[in-house]
Amino acid sequence: MNDFRYKMAQFFSGRTGVDALGRTVTWIALILMLLTMITGSNIFYLIAMACLVYSVWRMLSKNYQKRYYENQKFLEKTAGIRRKFSGFPYKAKTFFSRTKANYEQRKVYAIFKCPNCKQKLRAPRGRGKIQVTCSKCRTQFIKKV
Ligand SMILES: [Zn+2]
Repeated sequence: MNDFRYKMAQFFSGRTGVDALGRTVTWIALILMLLTMITGSNIFYLIAMACLVYSVWRMLSKNYQKRYYENQKFLEKTAGIRRKFSGFPYKAKTFFSRTKANYEQRKVYAIFKCPNCKQKLRAPRGRGKIQVTCSKCRTQFIKKV
């Protein structure tokens, strides 16, 4: 068994192994496989197979300097896309928490506009008819909240 492990280690030493480009190609292959299952399209299947073969070939390639260079180029070209996607979970989180806060506020406050200057105003709900003074133009009006 140890002999087998040693042989495996030797087999993989000096080879490229899995890098960012290899991982991405493998992911693309998996997604294409999924698309093949959904659509039954031969084209997706062929591209998926090509991607798999390419990623395995890369992994086993002994010309790791060239593969390293390819990977660097890939990282360079996708830097913009990866930056965009890395910020996505954070952006989605702030968007949802903001929407939720907005919704909570609307339950507690009535939001309306000043009839004179269209300034957005708010007042606590459930007080019936109240006199509102616009915070911007000081116009006074009656509002049911
Ligand atoms: Zn006003």
